[in-house]
Amino acid sequence: MDQLTMLWEYQVEDIKADNLAQEIRRSPLRQKMEKDRDLFMERQKQYKQIEEQVAVLIDRKDAIRDALNRCEEQLSSLQARFEQNPPEELEAVRSFMAEVSKCRETIVGYEQEMKRLTQEANTNDQRGNSIRTEAARLRSEFESLKAQYDKEMPAKKAAQEAQRAVADKKAEGIDADLMAHYKRIKKQIVPPLSRLVNGQCSGCNTSLPSAVLHRVRNASDEIVECESCGRMIIRM
Ligand SMILES: [Zn+2]
Repeated sequence: MDQLTMLWEYQVEDIKADNLAQEIRRSPLRQKMEKDRDLFMERQKQYKQIEEQVAVLIDRKDAIRDALNRCEEQLSSLQARFEQNPPEELEAVRSFMAEVSKCRETIVGYEQEMKRLTQEANTNDQRGNSIRTEAARLRSEFESLKAQYDKEMPAKKAAQEAQRAVADKKAEGIDADLMAHYKRIKKQIVPPLSRLVNGQCSGCNTSLPSAVLHRVRNASDEIVECESCGRMIIRM
């Protein structure tokens, strides 16, 4: 058997092994698992962001609570001062009233801000809970898909490895340079070998120029490539 015929026979088994490997990679089960995993990571990221927002909210609520307490202390000390030492001048009374009402306005402002922050915290809690629920659902779906995948996979993997072994056996005796050339072409186009059929490249169905045809038909050892698709053309 000549080298190119051996290479052709190798290609048949090589492509079969590749197809089995691809079937494993593209199995719908595996794709669903990958989708679940990606979504799960996304949800985890979102949950972490919400936790960070919650921490910021808690800090802000603490700061406002402190400010609110200070304001209330200020108000009661104003009132105590008024009771202990009531001003006699109208002007002093007015200025006192102004101070009290300013203090009350500030307190109302803080209370509104506090209410807003509490609402925001509640919304965050709800979002966080629904994200956590979905993440848990994704995780359990992933686990059950994985169990199914792990059950089906050994047989598929074994079949793929057996086919790869068949291909490896066919590779025995093929010239190393020729094999390297095959692998180079395979990176560009699959399958890398084509046949001559009615003067055309069987890979891309382009009619070969007569000079190329002549080379394919007459040179037994020369490697001729299709000018259109780059496949190695063999005469069989
Ligand atoms: Zn071609």
